[in-house]
Amino acid sequence: MGEETGFRIGIWPGGAIPVPALSTPDVRLLNGELIQFGTYYYMTEEENRPDDSVRTLGLAHLADRLYTDGFKPGAPRRVVLPEQFYLWEIGGLRLDDPEEVLRFTQKWGVLGEPGLSEIAIPMFDTELLDPSRKPAHLAHLDLFKEMGNLVAHHLRPGEQWDFRKFVHVREIAVHAALIRDLTRVWDAVSGGGSLEAVRRDWESHWLQPPPTTELAQGFLVDMLSHALRPFHVQLFLTRNGRITYGRWSPTLFAATCLQLANDIAQEQPYRRCLKCGRLFVSQRGRAKYGQFRKEGDIKYCSSACAKAQAQRDLYRRQVNARKLHAQGLDAEDIAERLSANLESVRRWIGKGEAE
Ligand SMILES: [Zn+2]
Repeated sequence: MGEETGFRIGIWPGGAIPVPALSTPDVRLLNGELIQFGTYYYMTEEENRPDDSVRTLGLAHLADRLYTDGFKPGAPRRVVLPEQFYLWEIGGLRLDDPEEVLRFTQKWGVLGEPGLSEIAIPMFDTELLDPSRKPAHLAHLDLFKEMGNLVAHHLRPGEQWDFRKFVHVREIAVHAALIRDLTRVWDAVSGGGSLEAVRRDWESHWLQPPPTTELAQGFLVDMLSHALRPFHVQLFLTRNGRITYGRWSPTLFAATCLQLANDIAQEQPYRRCLKCGRLFVSQRGRAKYGQFRKEGDIKYCSSACAKAQAQRDLYRRQVNARKLHAQGLDAEDIAERLSANLESVRRWIGKGEAE
């Protein structure tokens, strides 16, 4: 449980904001480390033409030249994120496996804009508390340099750091790790976990975790408010019904952060699966999206975990019954001792004798 700071995280507007459907670009893996993608910034279905990558005024003519090495991306797809996407799909993603990151990207889209524009500069000035810590804004600068170096030699003429048609798999990993860390921070400041656990499990290699509850709260506010900019009021220019400057089209990172913000707005601490330890909000049904249980005392993240645990409990009771039987208790005594059904106990100990 985090220490009391006297501050509470509020959210405007209150309540859950629907997470919009997203447009995911066609992608491919290049050199085992880059994910090259087609265009995905669209307002309407009819604009879904892969040869048009207008995003910034005056740069349209560059779009076609950016497709190289025979990559002709297909049309973007619409995708609707399942509930708890950030806890399940992002929480379970193996970040050091480019093939898995590719499969994730093919299914859900590119996590993180080129140029790291969705990652706010963390403002907590930890060096005042602890001079040995690197100030957060300098850590952010280091991340820029690190990611810049990763992609610099892959940029083609006309391509810019923040306007390019590929990302490095490690850029995606940085965004996924940040979402996981933000989730841990919320778990800690909402009273489910602890800052100690945040420190232990922290994944954002470029940044040290916020050292106090107060700074952790500020970190959440800074990072999420920045990431949620696509949901702020904004202006854009269109020509022939098509956006030519500015855009309204939330990214995968923004939509994922909105899911987290929605859960924060509920002011409910996460549940923890008693079987696998996963944080969850509602139980996921038989690997089929759209089936969720929210009400009541739910101990397991999924029907799979609930089933696995029930089987384990049953096995333990059977073993116990056989032990008691071996000690000379009869079926009636065992049934009473274990609060079990007599027929079941007979079957268990019968089975035990047969083995
Ligand atoms: Zn579980």
